[in-house]
Amino acid sequence: MRFKDRVALITGGGRGIGAATARLLAAEGAKVAVSDLDEVPAREVADPIGGLAIACDVSARTDVEAMVDRTVKELGGLDILVTCAGIIRDNLLFKMTDEDWDVVIDTHLKGTFLCARAVQKVMVDRKYGKMVFLSSTSALGNRGQANYSAAKAGLQGMARTLAIELGPFNINVNAVAPGFVETRMTRATAERMGMDFETFKLGAASQIPLRRIGQPEDIASVIAFLCSDESSFVSGQTIYVRGGP
Ligand code: NDP
Repeated sequence: MRFKDRVALITGGGRGIGAATARLLAAEGAKVAVSDLDEVPAREVADPIGGLAIACDVSARTDVEAMVDRTVKELGGLDILVTCAGIIRDNLLFKMTDEDWDVVIDTHLKGTFLCARAVQKVMVDRKYGKMVFLSSTSALGNRGQANYSAAKAGLQGMARTLAIELGPFNINVNAVAPGFVETRMTRATAERMGMDFETFKLGAASQIPLRRIGQPEDIASVIAFLCSDESSFVSGQTIYVRGGP
């Protein structure tokens, strides 16, 4: 019960990695606010774990501030923020539109900034906090992902910077950078490339030293470690979770 009496807010919590994280934190005692763009998937995850479902577009400041206010009022505080909300709009540079760029940067980078800024007020007052941002191995470069790669690399810099600014208030800020994880996001990538998902997964697994792709639970367990007091001297780090170095 590492999270007994803790309150966690998970963005993008209705699906994939965010949903697995919400379930794991709740199983270990946390009261969880599950936020997603659409309330339906958020509710599907929140209801069985006795959590709070909140519809929120993380790229909209008013939505984010209302989400944080509601979490604090209804769950009695806020100790943990995990930012999983994300989308992809892959295209080679010459075909990438302004909209492809803006929506990806706004969701990942601005969205995480807005969430971090809104929750820090609560965490600073409580002199306790854990923030985990979802980066990606794409931060190191990935064909067709200039927008996503820039956002995910930016999140690593933001984690390091906020670790410096917020450390004196006992707030840890870290990033987790997954490789290939089986979720709707990777399924959508296969569809866009005109590939059968099973074939796509086998191809990805063959490139991974551990010879398998990741599952949302593989990432959730590392996020949970960074949200726990076991890692209380770890801050400003990015942990790559991709079945290899
Ligand atoms: P999913 O698509 O399964 O889940 C992401 C969730 O975020 C969806 O429910 C999506 O809603 C929601 N979302 C999208 N835009 C917004 C928004 N503006 N405001 C709030 N919620 C939004 O993805 P994953 O679980 O795979 O990804 C979780 C995180 O992990 C992302 O940041 C992703 O970039 C990162 N990641 C994933 C990897 C993978 O292989 N799967 C690898 C590396 C990093 P909707 O479905 O309605 O769009």
